[in-house]
Amino acid sequence: MERVTLTTAAPEFYNDLCEVIRLFTGECAIGEEAGGALEVRHTVEGGEHVVRAGNAEARAALTPDTGDVLETKRLRKRAIKSAVYQAMKRLTGRKPPWGSLTGIRPTRLLYEQRAAGASEEEACQRLESLFDVDREKVELLRDIARVQDGMEGPGPNDLDVYVGIPFCRTRCSYCSFAATDLKHGAKLTEPYVQAVIREMHLVREELSTRRTRALYIGGGTPTALTCDQLARVMDAALECFPGAQEFTVEAGRPDTIDEEKLRMLRSRNVDRISLNPQTMNDETLRRVGRDHTAQDIRRAYARMRDMGFSVINMDLILALPGEGVDDVKRTLEAVAELAPDNLTVHTLAVKRAAALRSEGYAADEDAAQEMVALAARAARGMGLVPYYLYRQKYMAGNLENVGYCRPGAPSIYNVDIMEEIAPIAAFGAGAISKWLYPAARRIERAPNVKNIEQYIARVDEMAQRKRSLWSKGGCQGEEGEQAEEN
Ligand code: SF4
Repeated sequence: MERVTLTTAAPEFYNDLCEVIRLFTGECAIGEEAGGALEVRHTVEGGEHVVRAGNAEARAALTPDTGDVLETKRLRKRAIKSAVYQAMKRLTGRKPPWGSLTGIRPTRLLYEQRAAGASEEEACQRLESLFDVDREKVELLRDIARVQDGMEGPGPNDLDVYVGIPFCRTRCSYCSFAATDLKHGAKLTEPYVQAVIREMHLVREELSTRRTRALYIGGGTPTALTCDQLARVMDAALECFPGAQEFTVEAGRPDTIDEEKLRMLRSRNVDRISLNPQTMNDETLRRVGRDHTAQDIRRAYARMRDMGFSVINMDLILALPGEGVDDVKRTLEAVAELAPDNLTVHTLAVKRAAALRSEGYAADEDAAQEMVALAARAARGMGLVPYYLYRQKYMAGNLENVGYCRPGAPSIYNVDIMEEIAPIAAFGAGAISKWLYPAARRIERAPNVKNIEQYIARVDEMAQRKRSLWSKGGCQGEEGEQAEEN
């Protein structure tokens, strides 16, 4: 759709209402100027919210003042979003799988209902009735919550540590990260390594009373660094933040892994490693700019197994360009033969910074849904259970990303980050540190600059941003932005 005209009596929720409309229209321009291909109008009439979308109409009761400003605002936003959703659903005759939910973390809503006293089944039913979520998705959330319930949560003094290495051998066409390929960025790797080590040392003192819960070296592709460079980064992380219960390194692409690097990782007690094929079809790998084959993945996987990494994760992306349901089926069969301990199934999200976006690629939504269902069945067939889930903007079919694990082998880091239940000290270009204010349901962030050269030049300032964040850490007050809501 070219352009939608949206007017609302609640302009403070304008962006939220746009997100609901895009559940039905896909990415499109939305503004207040008259003359859009579709007109959506929200008014308050006779004590009700009234939403008209084209010739469809939906109404919602005004919500009461609860006496709690945030809660009152939340309920009001939900009522208006729900009315827009119902009007769009009537107009289009379409039913998005996640109903009116537009947030990244739908598990939150299940926990919210349980916290309000609902049993597991009551909480599930409320997600269906309040937000029109498909039963199958609600059951997925329920299964995830069961796994998370069995995990030990973070203590009040716990902290996760992330170190980002924004280099890759080549750039994938769907990539929206601030990662640079080695052809253009090789000269930056050494100054970057020195900068990130400096950043960790600059803040270690402030965090010395904290217990490191999970240490995660991600990217980019950390193993795109030389063995010596990566070893220095890891040694600095282990020195500054010792005692992690879990240590993960992303070795995302097989063309960056050799025996020397794997030995170095094992010698530093890395117990989790990621090898991310995305697809096991060579033609697709070439098409999306990945400089390796499925056979390279098999070889790298066998090496990792031989070296004794206790958990190997594999990432897949569904709805890649040129791939149909049969391609995904072949990939899942190939992955099942390898039997990874964790499997992360992403649905392609073509974000603004991705090359694919400028090529105008749009996935077939029905096929994407079928692929997601196929992957869920395949993961369970491999003996894996879902343990975390998140959604993103621009996802094919408004679907989801799901992390599956062998029972007993979920990643603490992934759950902490996705559920936002532990503070994180994050180092490197584009890394975002977070401090939580649970009582006020708020989160404060300290983002590092994304540009690698800027990061190197301004690393002391990045460390200072973090120090300022921690120095307010005892506060349960009003700083920070409100945690995301649906
Ligand atoms: S491996 Fe990941 S970070 Fe690197 S270019 Fe591909 S998608 Fe981007």
